[in-house]
Amino acid sequence: MFNKLLSPFSSLDIGIDLGTANTIVYVKGKGIVIKEPSVVAVNQKTGEILAIGSEAKKMVGRTPAYITATRPLVDGVVSDFEITEQMLKYFKDRVSKSKFFLSFRPRLVVGIPCGVTEVEKKAVNDAAKNAGFREVFLIEEPMAGAIGARLPVQEAGGNMIVDIGGGTTEVAVISLGGIVSSRSLRIAGDELNSDIIRYAEEEFKLALGERMAEDVKIEIGSALPDEEVKETLIRGRDLITGLPKEIKVTDEEIREALYHSTEIIIKAVKDTLEETPPELIADIMSRGIIMTGGGSLLRNLDRLIAQETKMPVKITEDPLTAVARGCGVVLENLDELKEVLIPMEYLEPPH
Ligand code: ADP
Ligand code: MG
Repeated sequence: MFNKLLSPFSSLDIGIDLGTANTIVYVKGKGIVIKEPSVVAVNQKTGEILAIGSEAKKMVGRTPAYITATRPLVDGVVSDFEITEQMLKYFKDRVSKSKFFLSFRPRLVVGIPCGVTEVEKKAVNDAAKNAGFREVFLIEEPMAGAIGARLPVQEAGGNMIVDIGGGTTEVAVISLGGIVSSRSLRIAGDELNSDIIRYAEEEFKLALGERMAEDVKIEIGSALPDEEVKETLIRGRDLITGLPKEIKVTDEEIREALYHSTEIIIKAVKDTLEETPPELIADIMSRGIIMTGGGSLLRNLDRLIAQETKMPVKITEDPLTAVARGCGVVLENLDELKEVLIPMEYLEPPH
């Protein structure tokens, strides 16, 4: 009854892609309203949360040592229940700010990685309930990504999604509203940054910051060569003299640094294909493997996957928001799309 009374305001329902690198918030009827880094600044002395999102990211490295930037999702899994709850509450309050029904408890569709344990699903559910959401629906991120990419996930046909985020890569084959086979690995965008840091240390005795490594990856990183050679300067600290040092690197060197990780991603795609029934393979062959997530933007990674799997590969439009847009589609069509959600009955004990 109370819910019925509130239903005209249901446009406040929200979808959140709580990614390891970026948090994207979708508001029903409005679309994507927030894109922020998944960073929380915590005062380690008091445990107090000082800032969330871009504001927290700005504080990193500019504050006393006892203020640390935490990423609440390590490898895609909730590592700190309290921080996740605060983050969900923060984003909820931000979208409902200046509304007269401030105390309104919206519904939430939230993406989580495939293959998280029941305990972790319950932790996300509880964190969201504590953050003030009335109802919580969990969806596997590749499923949300596939829906965001407008794949016909409910039909009896095969769809393959490769979602490369910051902390995790998820590979999934979807048919009839469910995940047929999947892989989740902890090699993704962040690991590529670490590869570059390790390479600079070994090859040039140069200590690089995480931000520098990511910039180089985005600027000249690739999985296969292009016709023209690209180069850029990297700046860091000389490990021998301790002084600042600048070195010129080429796309080929960065490719070498990333080679091992891109191989692991490709192996996961091949392994998943190997355990996929032949009928579904035929569908994937004609639809193509669909890539989502920021990591899919690594230059020519799509070409390398196509070459190695002999399948067509497409990067979805705006890959960084595909999961959030998929959560949004589910939010807008909850009744028709209920079957794609993770069943939650077991989480709520019968009254
Ligand atoms: P998550 O879902 O885990 O939050 P995202 O889908 O937001 O992750 O992707 C973030 C990752 O994408 C980061 O590791 C970032 O470095 C990487 N990324 C973003 N743009 C590019 C690009 N143009 N080339 C390569 N990597 C990129
Ligand atoms: Mg993601």
